[in-house]
Amino acid sequence: MNDISRERSSELFEKAQRFFPGGVNSPVRAFKSVYGTPLFIEKGDGCFLWDADGNKFIDFCCSWGPLILGHNHPSVRENVIDAVEKGMSFGAPTALENELAELILTHNRKVEKIRFVSSGTEAVMSAIRLARGYTKRDKILKFEGCYHGHVDSMLVKAGSGLVTFGETSSAGVPKSFADETIVIPLNDRGAVEQAFKQFPDQIAAIIIEGVPANNGLLIQNKEYIQFLRELSTANRSLLIFDEVITGFRLGFEGAAGYYDIQPDITTYGKIIGGGMPVGAYGASAEIMSNISPEGAVYQAGTLSGNPVAMAAGIGQLSELLRPGFYKELNEKTAAFVASVQQYAADKEYQLTVFSIGSLFWFAFTDRNIQKAEDIDPLSMDKFKIFHRELLNRGIYLGPSGYEVGFISSAHTVDTLENAKRAIFESLDVVYS
Ligand SMILES: *Cc1c(COP(=O)(O)O)cnc(C)c1O
Repeated sequence: MNDISRERSSELFEKAQRFFPGGVNSPVRAFKSVYGTPLFIEKGDGCFLWDADGNKFIDFCCSWGPLILGHNHPSVRENVIDAVEKGMSFGAPTALENELAELILTHNRKVEKIRFVSSGTEAVMSAIRLARGYTKRDKILKFEGCYHGHVDSMLVKAGSGLVTFGETSSAGVPKSFADETIVIPLNDRGAVEQAFKQFPDQIAAIIIEGVPANNGLLIQNKEYIQFLRELSTANRSLLIFDEVITGFRLGFEGAAGYYDIQPDITTYGKIIGGGMPVGAYGASAEIMSNISPEGAVYQAGTLSGNPVAMAAGIGQLSELLRPGFYKELNEKTAAFVASVQQYAADKEYQLTVFSIGSLFWFAFTDRNIQKAEDIDPLSMDKFKIFHRELLNRGIYLGPSGYEVGFISSAHTVDTLENAKRAIFESLDVVYS
């Protein structure tokens, strides 16, 4: 099959190289680990995307998760237009902030108070500062394979040994910052116990993604999350759920609701802003009272609670509260995933499609994967071919085999049938 035309995208990318490092404003967009130049997107509607060359795709990236209603949903669009007509930003409180907060908090049993920020990274950075301020401890325990935005102290990978201080995974992060981050493997109770033994009364918080979904989809057992809950309580450390992907995705209450486990601090991003740059962190009223101006932990933002962004969030989250929204979305996803898995099994392809809620991840293996180190880097060669074949058949997946796919309510059963056919053909090429 011929490759799609990328003439216009290539021109735009060439020009972009003059302006931006690597030609992009976020690294994964550069298509470094797949074939060809990045596609420049012209527009999106429902579950479809059109690129600058006029190619049309079924979109399984959905802006990396925020677009749970698909592109250009009328509730979001109309709210945004209404807000824009009244002005873009005031740097003063608006009723829209109350409205979005009320929508969230009255339907969430795990969070009492919230603070809006402008990205997931900012939410995590603030949650960590809050945990440190509240516990008066400095160290943070994180897991290898969890991504928490580009916060300095989170750009840390595991060193050698079972429980280690992290090593920085980006230039520009001081070694002394990494020394405050302890990195351990997921799904390993002994490593957590060992960390608390090694650093008694020093760990401010354990931070974990609601479901680790940034380095493959590393679904943890509920019992393990419950164990983290109990161990952090026993050690007077806080448990932070980074729900930037899973919040409003696994259900309105995110992973905390899905597992029915109470975190101490929760971070949100992506879906919460309906496609606009919004993040948030929330906790009990008691913990949140430590945030400035009520408490001593400083955190601020010129554009925090931006009215246009709040309006988009209100438009999107209102739709999610419709009865049966998640049931329908999750069932549609489960059926889609099951038929791809069945096809692979019939053909004896070594493929496992991991899935939870409306997230899925193609892993080119037949092993169960719950830890970062279980992912075989060589399997990414297969993803690279798969990605090219899918693009040629009108399917857009995020340009990295470590990234998960997202299904939105705009993906109809008919469209998913078409997508499946393209996926089957592409798998045949990968395994030919
Ligand atoms: C995307 C993501 C972030 C970072 O959010 P940005 O809005 O990109 O800064 C943090 N944590 C998790 C779990 C994410 O998926």
